[in-house]
Amino acid sequence: MALTFELTDRQVQKAEKWLEEHDCPAKKFMEATGSSPALGERVRFIFIPTMLGTIPVVECSCKAYEFLIGWDDL
Ligand SMILES: [Zn+2]
Repeated sequence: MALTFELTDRQVQKAEKWLEEHDCPAKKFMEATGSSPALGERVRFIFIPTMLGTIPVVECSCKAYEFLIGWDDL
């Protein structure tokens, strides 16, 4: 059995916006030290199965996270 998880376009946009805008110590550290890892190293996506459906979460390497779903998505 294969499990496939997808983000909608809107959720991808929300994730990218949040990654840019949240107050991120990891990002500040990278900017201060001039190190810039390739795209993707900072980010994890987590999918939580619930009775209401799968809830996608984006997590930054600074341990901050954001739910990529709103009440209108349920
Ligand atoms: Zn962060």
